[in-house]
Amino acid sequence: MSRLLLAANWKMHLELQTAQELTSEIASMLNSEAVSAPVVLCAPAPLLQAVAHLAKEHEGLFVGAQNLHEEKQGAFTGEISGEMIASVGAQYVVVGHSERRQLFKESDELITRKITRALEAGLIPIFCVGETLAEREAGLTPEVIERQIRAGLFTPTAEAITKIVLAYEPVWAIGTGKTATPEQAQQVHLQIRTLIRDRFGDEIADNFTILYGGSVKGSNAAELFAQPDIDGGLVGGASLQSREFVTIAKALR
Ligand code: PGA
Repeated sequence: MSRLLLAANWKMHLELQTAQELTSEIASMLNSEAVSAPVVLCAPAPLLQAVAHLAKEHEGLFVGAQNLHEEKQGAFTGEISGEMIASVGAQYVVVGHSERRQLFKESDELITRKITRALEAGLIPIFCVGETLAEREAGLTPEVIERQIRAGLFTPTAEAITKIVLAYEPVWAIGTGKTATPEQAQQVHLQIRTLIRDRFGDEIADNFTILYGGSVKGSNAAELFAQPDIDGGLVGGASLQSREFVTIAKALR
């Protein structure tokens, strides 16, 4: 089984019409470029259903949400459940993105609950981890990554682990144009895979998908994806342009 995957994180961009146009363009370009690795479009919640409808045109194109609530249902005005996301045709959900951790004060504990909830709703969590610039400069990267991995990945069962995708996103590289070098990224990806190997064994570690995110572009995707432990990307800014995004998808081979 291939570990390759590419995910777009549209964040709070696009509206119904522009999202539909972008989805159709991406679907037809993926078809004509014969990209075989799965591609996931993580769209804003109100647009999920429309995007999922169009994404069906390309066999390997899937849809994800960007967040979910940690409870199944209830009096949580404005919140969105995993079941709601699944019911409109999405298969994935981003959990623990650094913007949620920083701007919305999501803790490791809350993120763990969201991962569990996503799995219960039948969704594949795209679980994000990553250090801030201050943490990197203080030499704390391995420690921060290990803490986040232990919180989010070591709570679910070994069976559940196989249904989780991880994204390493150094916070200092997100939306800044500053990409981690392939060597910097590979070092952390290897650390993550080793943590998984030590805990869950070779088979799970060898099949586990670890994406890199943080200023991935058409011009740097190939050298990042060439690293042995980088299995694809989680792409923000560059995913809003179909041509650029499909260039990144082509680098997945
Ligand atoms: P970026 O965002 O590609 O714009 O840096 C990545 C992300 O936030 O997932």
